[in-house]
Amino acid sequence: MKKTDVMGVAFDDMTMEEAVSRALTLAKEGAGAYAVTPNPELVLMAQKDPAYAGTLAGAALTLPDGIGIIYAAKLLKRPLTGRVPGIDFAGKLMEKLAEKGLKLYLLGAKPGVAETAAENLRAKYPGLTICGVHDGYFTEDGPVIRDIRKAEADVVFVCLGAPKQEEWMRRNGAATGAHLLVGLGGSLDVFAGTVQRAPAWMQKAGLEWLYRLAKQPSRIGRMAKLPGFLVKAVFWKDKGGDEA
Ligand code: UDP
Repeated sequence: MKKTDVMGVAFDDMTMEEAVSRALTLAKEGAGAYAVTPNPELVLMAQKDPAYAGTLAGAALTLPDGIGIIYAAKLLKRPLTGRVPGIDFAGKLMEKLAEKGLKLYLLGAKPGVAETAAENLRAKYPGLTICGVHDGYFTEDGPVIRDIRKAEADVVFVCLGAPKQEEWMRRNGAATGAHLLVGLGGSLDVFAGTVQRAPAWMQKAGLEWLYRLAKQPSRIGRMAKLPGFLVKAVFWKDKGGDEA
């Protein structure tokens, strides 16, 4: 599988279709495999924290979620095929899960959100089996792991925000008995309708971040890191070089 290094994180260079097809194979054959969708903020986090870098490196699938990753890859002169936004990837994967009769578990967000998301997703993807849900504000992992195991989930959407969700998947993925876990940040809020996505034209123009900023100005601190990230890309010297 071809990997492209973007400032220390090895991304899978794939089209959306390829990513979904690979995820479907993992959903059938994986054993606690996990997928991550890093944006620039997470790449910066991985640069500072080797343990977190290790967690990202342990993913079976690493998809470039943010437009910032695409720009950085271009600046590094190793362009990626394109963005694979986590939420769109999740939608396409759910179509396939419904088709193949595979079971999905939703983990994360505030109490009640995953239930509403489940209702909406069942309506949107006829035939989709959502075998269980759990909110993301728990103190003990054990009961959550047991619930996923009991539900015999093939796939778990883990929506606890970064870096919590990636660490959770690495630590507990295998114990859940699920084949594949996917870290999807705030996606359950979008599926539940509590948070809106940017209009299609803004998504296409790579301006989704601007929309999110307008809706949640408190994100400014997080987003202010993007220009610095791109400047860093211009001056980036590979430490280990490309991974094949
Ligand atoms: N969240 C959670 N448990 C926590 C912290 C956060 O379930 O302990 C949820 C939060 O409710 C939200 C999501 O994780 O639904 C994180 O959303 P955010 O928009 O910050 O994630 P992003 O998509 O930017 O990674």
